[in-house]
Parts: sequence; C-alpha cells; structure tokens
Amino acid sequence: MTRKPATAAIHNGLNEEHQFGCVVPPVYLSSTYNFPEFDCPREHDYSRRGNPGRDITGRTLAELEGGAGAVVTSSGMSALHLLFTVFLSPGDVIVAPHDCYGGTYRLLDSCQQRGHFSVRFTDMNDDAALNAALAEKPKLVLIETPGNPLLRITDIAAVSEKAHQAGALVAADNTFLSPVLQQPLALGADFVIHSCTKYLNGHSDVVAGVVIAASQEHTDTLSWWANNIGVTLGAFDSYLLLRGIRTLVPRIRLQEENARAIVACLAQQPMVKKIYYPGLETHPGYALAAKQQKGFGAMLSFEINGDIATISRFLSHLSLFTLAESLGGVETLISHAATMTHAGMPEQARKAAGISDTLLRISAGIEDSGDLTAALEHAFQSVTKG
Ligand SMILES: *Cc1c(COP(=O)(O)O)cnc(C)c1O
Repeated sequence: MTRKPATAAIHNGLNEEHQFGCVVPPVYLSSTYNFPEFDCPREHDYSRRGNPGRDITGRTLAELEGGAGAVVTSSGMSALHLLFTVFLSPGDVIVAPHDCYGGTYRLLDSCQQRGHFSVRFTDMNDDAALNAALAEKPKLVLIETPGNPLLRITDIAAVSEKAHQAGALVAADNTFLSPVLQQPLALGADFVIHSCTKYLNGHSDVVAGVVIAASQEHTDTLSWWANNIGVTLGAFDSYLLLRGIRTLVPRIRLQEENARAIVACLAQQPMVKKIYYPGLETHPGYALAAKQQKGFGAMLSFEINGDIATISRFLSHLSLFTLAESLGGVETLISHAATMTHAGMPEQARKAAGISDTLLRISAGIEDSGDLTAALEHAFQSVTKG
C-alpha cells in the first residue's frame, strides 16, 4: 500500500525508539558505534557512512519522490557534485539547461575547465539544440524545471525519453516545486536532486541536499561514493530537515495560495509590465505545467516599468517581503535578479536569457495573504506618488 505524501512526511521514523518509547526519533550525535563482540559489526559503524537519524530523513525523501533510496548531503551543490563525480569521467559529456541555477552553472563550468567532463549548456525547449547536444552521446542530462527566474517549464517525460534513447541517464533538479507538486521519477527521470535548503526544510535555517535514485543499484553506488568523499549531512541538520519535512504538504499548499494572491494583486498594478507564473494561462509553459505538475508552485517573478532607481524606491517602500536570495521558507522573500541571484551572469548573457534589469522574483511564504497584498499595494502607491 502506498501512502499519500502527507502521511509519508509525518510517519517515517515515528515510534521506532524502544528504550524510552520516544514518539519522535532522537538525534544520534555519536560519530562511532561499538562492536558488541569481536568481528561482529552492527548496522552502523561510523556516522559519515550511516547515521540512524539521517537514514530516516533519506527514507522519507525517497518515499516522497517514489525512489528506491536517497543520499542526504551537506548542500544542494554537494548533491549535484556527487552525481557528477559518480557518473561522469574525463571525456564524458553532460547536457545542462542554459538557464540553470547559478551555482550549478558555476560548478559545471569550473569542473569543465579542470577537464573533469564537458558541458553542453542547452535550451531544453529548443528541439534542434537539444537534438544536437544528444547527438554527442552524453552520459547525463540535467533538467531543471521550472527554471529560474522566468519559471520556464521543461517537459520531463519528453526530454527523458529522448535522453534515454541517446543512452544518457537523466537527473531532474526538483528544488522549485518539491515532491508534493512534481515527481520527476514517475515522469521517467533516473535521479532527483534537491536543494533541501529550500522547500523541503522550509524554515531557512538549514543548508542541505539530496540525491534520490530510481534504482537500488544507483542508490548503493551513490551511497558508497558519498561516504568515500564525505559529503553526507550532519546528525543535527538531518534532524532539523526531517522536522521541516513533517509540515511540507500544508506549507506548500499555503505558499501556493499566497503566490496566487500575489499574482492577482500584481495583475491589478499599472506599474507591472509582465508577470511570470506558470499558473497564468498567458505563461508559455502553462499547459505543460498543468499536465506534469500537481500545482503551479509558489515562485513567481515580474517586471516593473522603470529602471533600477524605480526598483530601489519600490523595495524601500515594501514591508513584509524580505530582500534576500534563496526561496521556499515560511517567510516571503523578494530578490532582484540583476544585482542578486543573477549578478554573476554577464549583462549580455542576462539580456539573452530574457532577464531584464527590473525583474523581481518572489518566493511566497505563509503569512496572511491580505497582509502581503496590502504591503505590495502600499509600495506601488508610494512609488507612484514619488
Ligand atoms: C539553491 C539551489 C541549489 C543549490 O543548493 P544549496 O543547498 O544552496 O547548495 C541548486 N539548485 C537549485 C534550483 C537551487 O535553487
């Protein structure tokens, strides 16, 4: 019997401690485990390789994504690096989205410069470009959908099928939606990556990552390498992450509701030039998002009329929305692509990717939606008044 996500998120690890009858799993801080007898190891020997609490967190994430197993790592970046280390050798090609997360772009680019593998940054929605990249027989294809910051949608099932025909493995970075709103393994991907720092932990107080594999064989290989390199997550952060995951389902529903309220509010503002949200029928990825996702998510971006000075005045009048990078926490965040999340991208590349200087990105939190929209209206009124 498969459980629904809301049940899986709550019930993994409950009532498993028998000495005291703890309902909630304890934090096992011990780095090492004794041998009850000579040459008689237990399930755990050393916490880098296995930790009872981290194992529960991994089991929960694997169940939520419908995978065979998971490796919980120290960050989203180390999860990606683990995947690249395990499946790519010098001479191998990886295909990655041209608009992937900035840190992913930097990691791929710097590894390529060191000769670890070759990268083809590709527009996944451009069939000719994707076909050309796949003709090079890549070992791995990385998908990231929705994209950042314009929420471009990539067809996971279609890209996975093509990639498999070309002999590649497929990994999907599912950070922007969480397993509640999208399950890439069911759509054909071989791996799911998360920055658990975002929706999964959900409280902006842990940096963590995970690789979830569809097969047990891949899980075992990834686990072996994670211990070999030493990128597994610490005991206390594993506990905090599990605590965050307990409320993932209701949080993301509330966050999505607030995103819709924010989008409706922005649509009323004469100063707003364009809104990017896959739940809008005018968004180019709307139909695909409606098909492959279980919701439109809580990330959106918008452009306002004006210039950088207008952005600066707007933000100075905006309360409740914290000006910060990152996403997925219970508090609403706003960021400016050109000076923050995408500042590392050369201006020309930014323009080519359609990222204007007045583009703002919002990660909706779970505050009262009326308070959030009132804060936006007040900021727009203040800017208009000068
Ligand atoms: C944040 C993020 C990452 C990197 O994760 P960290 O936990 O910050 O290392 C990777 N991919 C996406 C889509 C992200 O948003």
